[in-house]
Amino acid sequence: MWPVPSSLSPSRVSSFTSCPMQFRFSSVQRLPEPPGVATTRGSVVHRALELLFELPNLERTPEALARTLDTALDEYSTDPDYIGLRLDDAAAATFRKDCDKLIDKYFQMEDPTTIRDIGLEVRMAADVGSLELRGIIDRLELDADGELVVTDYKTGRAPSGRYEQKSLAGVHFYSFLCEAVLGRRPSKIRLMYLSNGETIETIPSAQSVRFIDTRTKAVWKAVERACITGDFRPNQSKLCDWCSFKAWCPAFGGDPELAATEAVAAHAALMGENDQ
Ligand code: SF4
Repeated sequence: MWPVPSSLSPSRVSSFTSCPMQFRFSSVQRLPEPPGVATTRGSVVHRALELLFELPNLERTPEALARTLDTALDEYSTDPDYIGLRLDDAAAATFRKDCDKLIDKYFQMEDPTTIRDIGLEVRMAADVGSLELRGIIDRLELDADGELVVTDYKTGRAPSGRYEQKSLAGVHFYSFLCEAVLGRRPSKIRLMYLSNGETIETIPSAQSVRFIDTRTKAVWKAVERACITGDFRPNQSKLCDWCSFKAWCPAFGGDPELAATEAVAAHAALMGENDQ
């Protein structure tokens, strides 16, 4: 029997539905994962945008965003998620160039001087039965009618048509949280894909919010059941190519019982080498 997590984020819900075995490694056993370039790049760009929106509206210029990117890179230079990438000079320059491309694209998508933001990196939590559902909203703003709008920055590739609705599932959680915490349903949810300049929008409804409540309770029941029975099945998909736990996955001939010691040792070795 495994300990049942007491809270879930939208990404954890999606992790369980994508592959219960991976969920066991990451959310139940909480095994460390090596940092990834794409994830760290995303965190740096999110931070640069957060710093940009801390400025008064008229100061939110491309030059200011270049400066906040410098600050974000400086902050991350001592962060284990950056250090663990072990970038040499050439790779660090590419990392910077890729961040520059994302922030350049941002300015082609919207004019930040016109945004009426009321919250950045807003942490919200609401109870769903015995579970706490948590999320962090990149940006909360008001539209021209004073209605709430949730904006989520994405630094990965935009989804193709048939995966568009799936990609919105995460942000529907945020509308659920807004309604539960603030008592107001957002009028719009936006995903801004900085890689290609595409924005995907949706209008949440009472039905979409109810669906999140029902779906979260169902996923939660399945998580509890898996923790009690120990039955976390591997579910092979394209995501296996990026899975940090493939070496211990039974679907690939690995032994999950070795993951706890080996993953911790591998992570310590990675970080230890960086201290030298
Ligand atoms: S390798 Fe694939 S099947 Fe195995 S845990 Fe990772 S995502 Fe799941």
